[in-house]
Amino acid sequence: MQLAIISDVHANLAAFEAVLKDIDQSNVDKIICCGDLVGYGPDPKEVIALVRERGILCSGGNHDKVISGEFPIASMNPMAASAIEWTKEQLSNEEIEYLKSLPYILEEEGLRFVHGSIHEPQEFNYLNNYAHIARDFELMGETEVAFCGHTHIPFLYMYRAEQLFKIEDRKAKLADKHAYMVNVGSVGQPRDRDRRASYVLYNTVSRELQFKRIEYDLELTMAKMEKAGLPALLISRLGAGW
Ligand code: ZN
Repeated sequence: MQLAIISDVHANLAAFEAVLKDIDQSNVDKIICCGDLVGYGPDPKEVIALVRERGILCSGGNHDKVISGEFPIASMNPMAASAIEWTKEQLSNEEIEYLKSLPYILEEEGLRFVHGSIHEPQEFNYLNNYAHIARDFELMGETEVAFCGHTHIPFLYMYRAEQLFKIEDRKAKLADKHAYMVNVGSVGQPRDRDRRASYVLYNTVSRELQFKRIEYDLELTMAKMEKAGLPALLISRLGAGW
């Protein structure tokens, strides 16, 4: 089965549509999202509608869960919190209930999908250091493949004999005797200094994995954010890809 894994769409419809267009040209059987559909961006309703219309399975992110009241807004910096307040005003109760329904860990096709980390997924820890990544591998099967988002920075790690190996290739064939953790990056707010939307293709049979980057109409998203009165730094950071 050919999967497309996306994450951190963050209400950026232009980026999401560009990624879906690329996915539609890639013989994908199923699209799965690792969370944070909303927050930061100008199109929360449209992104939720498109996710549901396309039948995209999704785990819940911290922004989704702050909006649905399951995670404290105090966990966020003032800019993110102000975007959350704006987002909440745009959404219906039914849309907020949908965000509430998103599981912390999604299991599909023998794979696990989580926003932050498999360890205490409801705490939204960041897999941004060796100790946290190794801790997740210890909770995984010896040949398990898992996917995450949250840091908005793509990575691929392999775990062998209690050691972590970072794989830098954009395309890789995963060995069937090792475990892997894949951060698929962010569709709507990349933070690795590459402003293009990020996602991953993964074939569950051949175990071939590919990191993709997609250009989108950045100016359109920035103009909508300005019109909505979202914080200026949230707008400018999209152009710099951080
Ligand atoms: Zn995020």
